[in-house]
Amino acid sequence: MSLHGQSIIAGNVTSISGPTFSVSNPATGEQLAPSFQEASAALADAALIAADKAFDDFRAASAEQRATLLDAIAEGIEGLGDELLHRAHAETALPMARLTGERARACGQARLFAKLIRDGSWVEARIDRAQPDRQPLPKPDVRRFMVPLGPVVVFGASNFPFAISVAGTDTLSALGAGCPVIVKGHPGHPGTCELIGGVIVAALAKTNLPAGAFSLVHGKGNEIGLALVNHPLTQAVAFTGSLRGGRALFDAAVSRKNPIPFYGELGSVNPVFMLPGALKERASQLAENFVGSLTMGVGQFCTNPGLVFGLQGSDMETFLDKTSALVKAVPPTTMLHGGISASFNNGLDRISGVSGVDVLGKSETPAKSEAAQAVAAVYVTDAATFEANETLREEVFGPASLVTKCSTKEQLEQIAEGFEGQLTASIHGTVEDLKQHARLIRILERKVGRIIFNAFGTGIEVCPSMHHGGPYPASTHSFFTSIGTAAIYRFVRPVCYQGFPDECLPEPIQNKNARGAWRLVDGAMTNGDA
Ligand code: NAP
Repeated sequence: MSLHGQSIIAGNVTSISGPTFSVSNPATGEQLAPSFQEASAALADAALIAADKAFDDFRAASAEQRATLLDAIAEGIEGLGDELLHRAHAETALPMARLTGERARACGQARLFAKLIRDGSWVEARIDRAQPDRQPLPKPDVRRFMVPLGPVVVFGASNFPFAISVAGTDTLSALGAGCPVIVKGHPGHPGTCELIGGVIVAALAKTNLPAGAFSLVHGKGNEIGLALVNHPLTQAVAFTGSLRGGRALFDAAVSRKNPIPFYGELGSVNPVFMLPGALKERASQLAENFVGSLTMGVGQFCTNPGLVFGLQGSDMETFLDKTSALVKAVPPTTMLHGGISASFNNGLDRISGVSGVDVLGKSETPAKSEAAQAVAAVYVTDAATFEANETLREEVFGPASLVTKCSTKEQLEQIAEGFEGQLTASIHGTVEDLKQHARLIRILERKVGRIIFNAFGTGIEVCPSMHHGGPYPASTHSFFTSIGTAAIYRFVRPVCYQGFPDECLPEPIQNKNARGAWRLVDGAMTNGDA
């Protein structure tokens, strides 16, 4: 299939001319055809007008129709076969095995959302029936459930071209909820975006849903993103990416005349605590698991273990020696693009420039700078140096981590108190360690979205109980997750009907529970009729 390099507005491929951008293969430097047309603010406007027009029909579609749409998106992505994998590999340098796994995750989450929509319980219907005879005042009939917000703008990240991009979790959950979606394609993998955008267009047509429910606009630079966020018809924004980009767009979203919700999933350093019992039992194994997590996907995960803390002593030294040996043997690997590898190298310079920080281990094979390669690096320092240098708490996106040796349990707690919001924190320990460090866990509960025992944050399970978010700056709204089925609640709001005749109520809150969904009726959960 040849790529057209144009934006897609409500099912139509545009034919604009003007400024273009192109993408090159990060591993070889080869420029990849075609070049992509930069969308103008006029195109953003057209996409939002079409989305707004489509909204009423789209949200009125049956749950079965929208679930079928999500299934059709999964089928369509699989139907692209190797062509999709090859294009994504050329654009991102992510290994084929990783991309194959990520495609399975993307299709799996589409089917998971389809199941959620079919089940119907997600609308969280609450029904309080009238009590006309209640004293001293009669109780009215009050019922609420979740309704979609309207057109949503989605920004995907460079490091998940399938699972957090055009048909990623943001788009799937918004479409599932009944919100039209306008995706700002990531300029790091525009061809991949186009292929998947075509799948969504075809899936909407196949399921007889309005074409205006999806548009894809290409653009490199800030203008098009800002135009989408500032557009008066945009009702919410989902963003995954850097703190800097996310913050700029968040500020725009909340400074509008009518501020809108902005769900930014941003960076994180994901602190890891190696507690004494675990180090005593399995220091070498911990080092292996740590280096594996650190270098997985060239460290290009928002859940990468960027900071490690442990109590100094001989077991900690065993962990450090093994980590050092393992990191030295890691071959340099190509990053997503030249910009990310340049930022990574700046990050390494920033850490190594701090007095009191030493290199624990670094890939011994030199990187090929023309291939945007990263060398894995682990640094070591002490608690006083860590505490005195704010810069050591900042994310270095890539395979780099800093290990801090602490001397007391209280020092670990004090360091944890100083963290900003994080997506994850990991505790490696024994049950006895957990009991001894109960205060540390309580501190972490206030700082992070997910606390992990005896594992690392990389490799997120997509499931109903997952929470992928955290206090700012991990995300811009700590209540919400961007991964797992609860992600849908970013794109809905409750609406309450009072005193309506049953037959005039929306189906999810009528007395007859047609879908057998779980509902809170007069204070008790039931999947029966009200
Ligand atoms: P990025 O550079 O922030 O880009 C994300 C998207 O936002 C791109 O489409 C980008 O377009 C746009 N953008 C960025 N700044 C903008 C601005 N000021 N105005 C308008 N648009 C803007 O992030 P990335 O390099 O793709 O991803 C790496 C980062 O994402 C890391 O920090 C990582 O930790 C984070 N991440 C977080 C999660 C999570 O779930 N929390 C998951 C994956 C990655 P342009 O390039 O055209 O500006």
